[in-house]
Amino acid sequence: MSDLLDLAALDAADPLAAFRAEFALPEGVIYLDGNSLGPLPRAARARMGAVIEQEWGRDLIRSWEINGWMELPRRVGEKIGRLIGAAPGCTVACDSTSINLFKALAAALALRPERRVVLTQADNFPTDLYVTEGLCALLGRGIEVRRVPEEAIAAALGPEVAVLSLTHVNYRSGRMHDMARLTRAAHAAGALAVWDLSHSAGAVPLDLAACGADFAVGCGYKFLNGGPGAPSFISIAPAHLGAPMPLTGWMGHADPFAFGPGYRPADDAGRALVGTPFVLSLAALEVGVDLMLEADMAAVRAKSLLLAEAFIALVERDCAGIGLELLTPRTPELRGSQVAWRHPRAEAIMRALIARGVIGDFRPPDILRFGLTPLYLRFAEIGAAVKRLAEAAG
Ligand SMILES: *Cc1c(COP(=O)(O)O)cnc(C)c1O
Repeated sequence: MSDLLDLAALDAADPLAAFRAEFALPEGVIYLDGNSLGPLPRAARARMGAVIEQEWGRDLIRSWEINGWMELPRRVGEKIGRLIGAAPGCTVACDSTSINLFKALAAALALRPERRVVLTQADNFPTDLYVTEGLCALLGRGIEVRRVPEEAIAAALGPEVAVLSLTHVNYRSGRMHDMARLTRAAHAAGALAVWDLSHSAGAVPLDLAACGADFAVGCGYKFLNGGPGAPSFISIAPAHLGAPMPLTGWMGHADPFAFGPGYRPADDAGRALVGTPFVLSLAALEVGVDLMLEADMAAVRAKSLLLAEAFIALVERDCAGIGLELLTPRTPELRGSQVAWRHPRAEAIMRALIARGVIGDFRPPDILRFGLTPLYLRFAEIGAAVKRLAEAAG
């Protein structure tokens, strides 16, 4: 374990080291917030320039056809589907995570009309809770949103539960659920499982198909490096591709350009589309996803775990006595790709740390959170970040 502290050796042995050059990271900044907004892939500049100057500027309306604009949600969705282990034709990129979660939950609830409970985690990401509450109020079927603590989830699955709705990796603690086990437990109880992969896609190996997940959604601008406001994705299990979607806009139609009077949904995940594709942001997202697809996910996971272990070991060595309390599980299988500590002065410490060029983030009430993104982080940066954390907290 002593070589955990030999950062130069870890960097020298890093099989992903070459990816660093693919990102435009500002000088003098150690970026530990790629779980909130991924940095700019260098290739995105040229791609955005081409989309704007040639496709929009020159080809105009013809671009829907000649530049493949119409296919973007399916093309980018299919690539994300490969990253998350979804079956072909099951994933599209569109809208925000909040909206895609609304669609997934509504579709899942309609598949269990006799049941009255959506089971979720009490400290799920706020938008997930808000969207769930709002949808259930809108449906007006007396559906209850039952929020239970993490450790009570499996035991709370019962005959009244229609849908188990969870975020795979918790945004604060970085704790990761066992997706296969909980999906099996949900199915055994007769419920469907809806997963939010916002902190998992591009961060940890995923195999939605093997897990039997019913619906999944996730974020494009975090570990996928799709740019600010990047579209999110929604993935539908093959068994549910015939399920009605709640938002029936023309882009979800089997043949939008027939301009027919009646709605007939597409028979692939395209039925989850609603309106006109966000061409500019889909083009940027595709660059981030393409880059991610070049990396071996097993190597990404191995480096992510090593980055976390080095980070934790260095904090224990260099920040002892400061009062940082590790919130992220020490067990590797229970971790996503971030580490977090609690501290009563977390907000002030994070401000001081950012002033020293190390960008992480603060999450109320007392959490210092650091994203670990193997494609562009160096072990040496973790060492430097911990030194500055000791100064900032001292
Ligand atoms: C980041 C994040 C979102 C983002 O939702 P948007 O609608 O895209 O803003 C949703 N859920 C979780 C768990 C997240 O971490």
